[in-house]
Amino acid sequence: MNPDPTLVKSEPAFFPKAHPDQGVRPFLVAGPCSAETPERFEATLDGLAPLAPDLVRAGIWKPRTRPDRFEGVGAEGLVWVRELTQRRGLRLAVEVAQPSQVEQALLHGVDAVWLGARTTVNPFLVDEIGRVLAGTGMPVLLKNPINPDLELWLGAIERMERWGLTQLALVHRGFSPFEPSPYRNMPQWEIPIELRRRRPDLPMYCDPSHITGNARLVPEFAQIALDLCYDGWMLEVHHSPSDAWSDAGQQLTPDQLRDTLGGMTFRFNDPENQELAAQLQDLRAQVDRLDHDLLELMSQRLKLSHRLGTLKKEYDLPILQPKRWEQILETRHREGASMGLNLSFLNKWLQLMHQESIQRQLDMYRPDSSKTP
Ligand code: PEP
Ligand code: MN
Repeated sequence: MNPDPTLVKSEPAFFPKAHPDQGVRPFLVAGPCSAETPERFEATLDGLAPLAPDLVRAGIWKPRTRPDRFEGVGAEGLVWVRELTQRRGLRLAVEVAQPSQVEQALLHGVDAVWLGARTTVNPFLVDEIGRVLAGTGMPVLLKNPINPDLELWLGAIERMERWGLTQLALVHRGFSPFEPSPYRNMPQWEIPIELRRRRPDLPMYCDPSHITGNARLVPEFAQIALDLCYDGWMLEVHHSPSDAWSDAGQQLTPDQLRDTLGGMTFRFNDPENQELAAQLQDLRAQVDRLDHDLLELMSQRLKLSHRLGTLKKEYDLPILQPKRWEQILETRHREGASMGLNLSFLNKWLQLMHQESIQRQLDMYRPDSSKTP
């Protein structure tokens, strides 16, 4: 006899998705960047325990950029880290970056593991780690890769799933900036937003500690995460951040964490408010019409590029006309500024448009090209 599927209770998800309006609060992963000594870890845990984090994080093996820094206490730390968290009824997650570390983590009964940004970036390692975790049902947090490559992040999820690991959550910790930047890692919010659209089943947590690299900015980014509907946070917390052996500048004290959580504003949609719904609908209808006009204008603009391409081809002119491009940039910047447009936004749009025009003209120059737009 087939069991009645409605009677089969599925295991509760280790990583729930947040529904603050239904009483499911954002998931909180908190703890030090690294577990340093039993005494130091205990001092942090004593501050953390009253805040009841859903999961305590503790780095045992630290992937440092330079080799002369503290690289974690290593496997022997797992004994006291496990013991001290368990004694307080807290669940523990550690970072694993190699199969041997996964074996140690399993041996010591950690509750979850996370893959750091320097591991998610490497498909071989992700696969190796998945192979060792296969069949254990271990909950896994996958941080974004250091480079802003959504497909690579997605690939890490898929690799874990191939090994039968289904208790997964994603951690957005920002992307390496390639130029001086106001944050340690650039948030590039559009990437996690797009990943969540593609995998709405997976919880997405935000790691403001590694994004900002600055404890003073952490509360602001924790709030942004709420406003962008994240399902939780991973936050670095240390009893005495200025003495920390890694990431000293970005860790909160337990008191600061309490204040940060207490200062969060939860915002909710209000389906009862008919008047507001009508106002939103009206504004969105205007946006829809403008978007339609913009699409039409873009299409017309590209048709003109095509006609320009035809002329350039007929008279054997080079496709790129640097003087003309300079002039476009200069005039559009001036006009855009007077219309209140953000320069970096405008630049991205101009670059995209120019790139598309050039590509279309390059296609026209190819011998087999007979395409019209
Ligand atoms: C960490 O969580 O301490 C860490 C090393 O993070 P990331 O992989 O985001 O750099
Ligand atoms: Mn850290």
